[in-house]
Amino acid sequence: MLLGFKYKLKPSQPQSQKLSQWLDMLRKTYNWCLKDRIDGWHQQFIQGDYCELKTKTEITPLSCSLVKGTQLANPWKDGGGKARRKGEKAQSPKRTVALMQDANLQELKDARPWYQNIDIGVLQSIPARVNESFNKFFKGAGFPKFKRRHDFKSFSYKPGRVKIKGNKIYLPKIGRMRFYNSRSIPDGFQIKTATVRQKADGWYVSLRIENLEYLAVKSGKKLYKVNPRYTSQTCSNCQHIDPASRSGEKFLCTNCGHIDDANLQAARNVKTKAIESYSLNIAKIVKSKTVRRDSSKPAQLSLFETLYSERLPVNTLPLKGFPACGQEPRI
Ligand SMILES: [Zn+2]
Repeated sequence: MLLGFKYKLKPSQPQSQKLSQWLDMLRKTYNWCLKDRIDGWHQQFIQGDYCELKTKTEITPLSCSLVKGTQLANPWKDGGGKARRKGEKAQSPKRTVALMQDANLQELKDARPWYQNIDIGVLQSIPARVNESFNKFFKGAGFPKFKRRHDFKSFSYKPGRVKIKGNKIYLPKIGRMRFYNSRSIPDGFQIKTATVRQKADGWYVSLRIENLEYLAVKSGKKLYKVNPRYTSQTCSNCQHIDPASRSGEKFLCTNCGHIDDANLQAARNVKTKAIESYSLNIAKIVKSKTVRRDSSKPAQLSLFETLYSERLPVNTLPLKGFPACGQEPRI
C-alpha cells in the first residue's frame, strides 16, 4: 500500500530557475521521443514495412527495428540477450522500443552536454513516459499527443533518490531546499517515488511511501503476514497446485474444473493461509468495503475480521476508512 504526501517547496531563486529549465528540456525530450515513435508507427502502418538504413538491422520486415516502432539507437542488447548466469533463461536479443530510446539518451547527453545537469533517473523516466502513453493507446486510449508548456508540468525521481532530513528535502542535482512541512512523514518509512510539479503558486513535491502496518495500526487492526508462495496457482476449492490453472485474469483448475477470477482466487488462498497459520477464529465477514488507496483509485476489498480477542486491545488512532488485511490486495 502506498501513501501520498504533498509538500510545497521553498526553492532558492537559482534552484527555481533550474527546475524550470529541467521541465523545458524534459518536455523537448518527450516530444522528440514521441516524434520518433510516431515516425516508426507511420512507416510501419501507413507506408508498409519500410526499413531505415540508419539502424544496424538487416533489411527484412521481420527483424527491422521499425517494426518495433523506433528509428533510434542500436536495437540489439549487449551480449545479444544471452543468459547472464547459469540457469537463467536467454532473453530476446532485441531491445524493446523503450529500451532503445533509453540507450539513446547517452548520445543525447554527448551531443547536448547541458542535459548532463539533469538527474539520469529523471531523464530515463521520459522514454518510459512516452512508452506508457503508447501502451495506453494500444489499450484503447487516444493517440499520444505532443506536450506543450502548459501540459508538461512535472517530473519524477526514481525510488530512493529523494531524501528528507528535518525541515529540508534533498532533490538530486537540484540540491537541498526547505519545504512547508505541513504533515510529517511517519518514522521509518522509505520514500518510493517523488514527483516534482509546477503549479501556479510555486513548486510542489508529491512523495509516495510504502507500508501496510501503518494503515493497520491506524485503523486499530492487527496485521498478519502470509507467504504469498503458490497463492495464485492453488485451487481454493480442491487445493490442487498447478501453474497451468492460471491464465492471465482467469483461473480454471486443471484438477476439479473450478472457475474463478485469478485475483479473487489468490486473495481467498491468502485468507485461508492466514487463518490456518495463525489459528484464527473468524467472527464475521466484512464484505465489499470501498476504500481509497490514494486520491484517484478507489479499490474494492473483501475483508474479514477476527474475534475481538484477536484485535489490538487499544485503538490509539482514529478508526476510519482503512482495512485490515493480510497482504497487499492484488488488484
Ligand atoms: Zn480444483
